[in-house]
Amino acid sequence: MKTLGYYNGRFAEIEEMTIPMTDRACWFGDGVYDAGLSLDYHMVFLDEHIDRFFRSADLMEIQIPVSKKELHDLLYSLIRHLDTGDLMYYIQVTRGSGIRNHVFPDSPANLWITFKPAELVDGSVPVKMIILEDTRFFHCNIKTLNLIPSVIASQRAREAGCGEAVLYRPGGRVTEGSHSNIHILKSGELQTAPADNLILPGIARAHLIRACRALNIPVREEPFSLDLMFSADEVLMTMSSHPCCRADTIDGKPVGKKDDDTFRRLREYLINEYISDGR
Ligand code: PLP
Repeated sequence: MKTLGYYNGRFAEIEEMTIPMTDRACWFGDGVYDAGLSLDYHMVFLDEHIDRFFRSADLMEIQIPVSKKELHDLLYSLIRHLDTGDLMYYIQVTRGSGIRNHVFPDSPANLWITFKPAELVDGSVPVKMIILEDTRFFHCNIKTLNLIPSVIASQRAREAGCGEAVLYRPGGRVTEGSHSNIHILKSGELQTAPADNLILPGIARAHLIRACRALNIPVREEPFSLDLMFSADEVLMTMSSHPCCRADTIDGKPVGKKDDDTFRRLREYLINEYISDGR
């Protein structure tokens, strides 16, 4: 074989392999991987790669469905099918399968393996480089598939018997929920985080802001702190399936529920708007 792709016991050339759409890699990028070089059918530093693979999975609370020894033996049984022994080996485990839902599924993890031809780069040719500011993990405004932090936050909320986790940055700025936008009502005014790179600009958020304008409720698009949230009259949560909900406790402490009137007006306006748009 020129390449090899393995998935939960099946294997074929990588391009012939198909993966179920329910695999959490498809929805959330919800998995971990490791990769190394093979020279003449010897997987270089394999035990170190397997150790790191298990460590990564452990930190993500993913249970690899085989032991380290079983994985080692499986890799060596598969590599025999390749036409060359000079390869990149790649191992990946994903947090099982299911219909899209952030919280952990009730299913075993999926094991992926690939081999593709590769060569050792000996360093005799220098590399040209560029510089870029490191902005990784600061692109929350992009609805990417890489949702592991949101998956973990949703799972933590579920474990705490809650429906959402409110996220904040060091210093206490509230950003958003794990899969929703969070806003507050204070003295009759709506305050919501600005649509910068630290939040997803929710469609439901935009409708909430428009509803406020229609109802003459002032809007302030400014960051707010955890302290302000805890002292707010209402803490609101929006997402496309939840046009206007409010929190009654956060971390077990009572919050909001002090401005029934504004909440009721917004909720009625938004629910009516949703229903009429759907007809
Ligand atoms: N913020 C995050 C991180 C989300 O994942 C979502 C929805 O998936 C939202 C906010 C709300 O977006 P929308 O109102 O478009 O559903």
